[in-house]
Formats: sequence, C-alpha cells, structure tokens
Amino acid sequence: MTTLKAGLGDAQAVVIGGGLAGLLTARVLAQHVARVVVVEQDRLPEGPVPRRGVPQSTHVHGLGVRGLRTLERLLPGFTGELTGAGAPMLDLAGDLAMRNPHGWAAVFPSGLGFVCASRPLVEWTVRRMVRTAPNIVFHEGTRVTGLTGNTSAVTGVRLHTTEGPDHDRPTLTADLVVDATGRGSPVDTWLEQLGCVPPPKEVIDPHIGYASRIYRVPEGHRAAWQACYIQGGPPGPHRGGVLAPLEGGRWIVTLIGSGADRPSTREPDFLPYARGLADPLIADSIAHAEPLTGITGSHATSNRRRLIRPGARLPGNLLLTGDALCCFNPVYGQGMTAAALGAALLGECLTGRPELSGISPRYHSRLTTLTNSFWDMAAAADNVLPDTEGTPPSWSQRVASRYMDRVQAACTRDPRVHLTFLEVLHSLRPPSSLLAPGIALSALAGRGAGQGRPAPATSGTP
Ligand SMILES: Cc1cc2nc3c(=O)[nH]c(=O)nc-3n(C[C@H](O)[C@H](O)[C@H](O)COP(=O)(O)OP(=O)(O)OC[C@H]3O[C@@H](n4cnc5c(N)ncnc54)[C@H](O)[C@@H]3O)c2cc1C
Repeated sequence: MTTLKAGLGDAQAVVIGGGLAGLLTARVLAQHVARVVVVEQDRLPEGPVPRRGVPQSTHVHGLGVRGLRTLERLLPGFTGELTGAGAPMLDLAGDLAMRNPHGWAAVFPSGLGFVCASRPLVEWTVRRMVRTAPNIVFHEGTRVTGLTGNTSAVTGVRLHTTEGPDHDRPTLTADLVVDATGRGSPVDTWLEQLGCVPPPKEVIDPHIGYASRIYRVPEGHRAAWQACYIQGGPPGPHRGGVLAPLEGGRWIVTLIGSGADRPSTREPDFLPYARGLADPLIADSIAHAEPLTGITGSHATSNRRRLIRPGARLPGNLLLTGDALCCFNPVYGQGMTAAALGAALLGECLTGRPELSGISPRYHSRLTTLTNSFWDMAAAADNVLPDTEGTPPSWSQRVASRYMDRVQAACTRDPRVHLTFLEVLHSLRPPSSLLAPGIALSALAGRGAGQGRPAPATSGTP
C-alpha cells in the first residue's frame, strides 16, 4: 500500500468511530475508494437503542433543517425512513412552541419541516442505509489505540480487541485514516506518539448541564403545540427545557442549566427543576405522564475545536471530522448538521481527484470555513454567560449579544423576524441575514416583549 500516492480507486480508508460523522464519512468515501473499514469500539445494536460509546444519545437531539436536507442528499429516502419508523414531522414555527426570555414566539406555518427522532433512531437509520454499500465493512468491538506511520503520512491504525476478525491482529493498514471518535478524541496523544505537534485547541465552556428522561405521551393529550422549547435567561431564570415528541408515542424531556444550577439526575429533583423554568408548560405536561426511563445527565457540553491552520505539520492523509474536529454547546443543535456537512464536503474534495495527495489541507481548510459561522454563533452567545470559561467576550461579541437580545424580543412580536431567526438557527441562511434592513428595523424599533402572547393551550391531560 503506497500512502498518498495511492490511486483513489485502489485505496483503503479506515474510519475510526461508527457514530454519525463516521458513518456518513464512510458512505461518502465508499463512492471514491476501493474499500472502507469502519472501526468501532462498541458492538453495534440491531435496533434504535442507546449504546455506551454515544452517551449523549439519551438526550434530546434536534436535527437541524439543513442537516436533515444534507442527510437526505447523502442517503436518499432518509427522511421517509425516519417518519416511517414513527418520528413525527413538525412545522418549525407552527408546531414548536418557543419561549425565549422575552415571551412566546409568534406561531405560524413556516413550511420548514423538522423531524423529531431519537438520536438512536437517527444513528440506526443511517447505519442501516450505509451498511448497504458493498465496499464498507465494520469491525465492531474493536478499539483503535494509536496510529502507525510518521509525521508526514499515516500507514494505518493500531487495534485492541478481544474477539472478532481483528483478534490477534495488532494493526490495520490504510491509505487514508479519518478520526471520527467524537468529543473525547484521543488524537492529540496519537499524534504525539508519531512525533507530531497536535493542533492547538480553542475551548469555550459555559458549564452547562443536561438532565433527560423519556415519558409515554399521556392518553388523551391534546395541545396547540407538539414540541416546546423554553429558553432560560434574564430577566427570568437561567434554566431551560425542551419537550419533544419521539417515535413510539413518547416524549423526551431535557432540562438545561449552568454552573451551580445544573439539573441533577436525582428522581425527586426532576419535576421541581422543571417547575423552576420561566413557564410551567413542560412541568404541567409531565406531572402525570408515565416515565419510561431513568434520568440521565451530561456535562459534555463545551464548545471545543482543533485549529488546523494552513501549513499545519500533520500527516497528509489523516482527516478529522465531526465532534473530533469541532464540537459545540449542544443547546444550539448544530453537531449532527456539522457532521453531515463535513461528509458532503469530503465528497466534494475527492470528486474528480485521481489520488489522495493534498487532501488534508484542502478538506480541513474548507471544513473550518464551513463551521466558522456555527462556532461564531455559539461563541458569541456563550461567551457572555455568567458561568463561561474561555476567551473573555470581545467588544463585538458583546454588541452581537445585545443585538440578538433585541432580535429575540422581536421574535415574540414579528413572525418575519422569528422566521429569519429560525432559518439562521437551522443554518439555512447566514447569520448576517439578521442584519437585513427589515429585520434590523423591527429588532431595533420595539423594546421588550411582545403583547404578552399567552402560552399555547394544552387540554386533555389528566
Ligand atoms: C448532551 C448532548 C446533546 C446533544 N444534542 C444535539 C442536538 O440536539 N442536535 C445536534 O445536532 N447535535 C447534538 N449533539 C451533538 C451530536 O451528538 C454530535 O455532534 C453528533 O452525534 C456527531 O458526533 P460524532 O459522530 O462526531 O461523535 P459520536 O457520536 O460521539 O461518535 C463517536 C464514535 O466513536 C467511537 N469511538 C470512540 N473512540 C474510539 C476508538 N478509540 N476506537 C474505535 N471507536 C471509537 C464511539 O464508540 C462512537 O461510536 C449533542 C451532544 C451532546 C453531548
């Protein structure tokens, strides 16, 4: 195997990690190289159930509209598979009741379809569709422990397994290696072992905590909303919460807080914490609902990115993708969209190229540009929060944060502003759209909340 010189058509790629980013990357690579091996430390379940290597899968996972559209492009029929499995399709502004610190946002049909699926269903659906490619093989129950090669090129990965096809096989050779091991990627250690200097990291940690639980939707439940997001922030409490429908007639409820007010996973604390949100809608809805799971927590919520700048001295055939390259505070719901966009971008970088040479700088530079707007949005919002640790907020971030506050106030009065806000949040428009004259005028003209829009009605719950 001649690394970097390999013709794409003869090459073997190894993708480390069979999460969402790894699966989608494998799908794209399979269209360009001879063989793709996905090495995954977990044994992969035959069904949409949480697994150990993806602990975040018990928490609400909003799939951004651009992410859904990109997934549909990568895996035609994907949306139908999700809805066919029972995942509800909602209108983003018509069915999702959103309360920001200024009040309830305007409700109207937006035409933006939003699928509410559990994270295990999303991953299992992607996995089933990806598995149909004949040149992708999975090595499950196999952990990658390092890379082989040198500072200019990797030649493969080191493996640890106690069973399966790789038992007694210490390494797997590769012309291209992709790190898709997620937020906890050990790539810095692996690079140091090769003699490389790991890329610098930027971290902004708002010390946010999640606590989540799944309920059965109460029989006879009727409401003017299908999902609900209550955002925390002054002048109300900082706590937030989400209630979203899932396949199988279930609700997932995630409570969100920061610093000393992070929600606990203790049974007696869950409902009282929900009662402390700015509106009782979520607490009232679950007060008599049957819990189907215990309560799980997550503090893995910092924004963290590896900065692979032009000229970085990294092996030319090692790529980082998904959370391993850049992960975000999950309240902004960007991670799965970024994973899908990263995979689609890799396809663009490989199309028409006869060989792998130069792939790393080309791919990383384009992916960084693509995720910059996600990062800037999360950084500007998080940097001004009271519990945030990281770079102190810049002057422009303070101004942006104040302006966003006015935009959110306008979302409670003006459907046009709310629609543009949602389109930006779902990466369908650049953040600069919020500065368009019509939007800016509406944001800067009014002050404070709208006309005290009431909470959307719920009836029929016991
Ligand atoms: C609490 C929480 C809530 C979130 N909510 C949202 C949301 O609402 N919307 C959204 O878009 N995103 C959300 N995200 C982010 C989202 O989960 C990820 O961005 C997305 O799943 C892409 O992840 P990934 O594939 O890069 O990594 P992961 O999904 O973490 O997958 C990594 C994979 O690598 C495997 N692995 C790790 N190390 C090794 C090794 N050494 N050898 C072999 N295999 C290995 C793991 O077992 C796992 O399968 C949330 C994240 C968290 C933490």
